[in-house]
Amino acid sequence: MKETTQDKKISKNLLPGEMSIKGFIGDDKRQLNQIINSDKVILDRLNLTAKMIADRLQHFTDAAFESYYGSIIIDEKYEVNYQSYRGKLICPFSHPGIYRKGLITLKNLENGNTISWTPLNIHMIREHCFFEGIGSVHRLEPEILKETLFSRE
Ligand SMILES: [Zn+2]
Repeated sequence: MKETTQDKKISKNLLPGEMSIKGFIGDDKRQLNQIINSDKVILDRLNLTAKMIADRLQHFTDAAFESYYGSIIIDEKYEVNYQSYRGKLICPFSHPGIYRKGLITLKNLENGNTISWTPLNIHMIREHCFFEGIGSVHRLEPEILKETLFSRE
């Protein structure tokens, strides 16, 4: 698929040193729309939607944010910590909107999986189905999100 001017601008924003020091792409050589489309295919296979994941991440983020200090245990199963940083981020997809800098870390105490994400990750997943490129610091693998955040039925 050919990239539009807007796509190119977004892709540039995602590179290291543009809107964040490390960027959002990692070592991924694919075009942005390829990264997004391949994750959409994976979500379908997992029976998940970007919204379901974003809602789940937001739920834990809100709970941990309200706890102020240290980690909290949610549902006797998830240990969640919210680390706040000064400053704000804007969406690399040229949206209006400002996102808190922060890092949320969640450990699933049943299977030991630990994942971390930022408030901007939640937005990029919800609105852009963007989980970051392979090798990016905050890349969130849909399979791991499923194993970590959703109980087995
Ligand atoms: Zn956006």
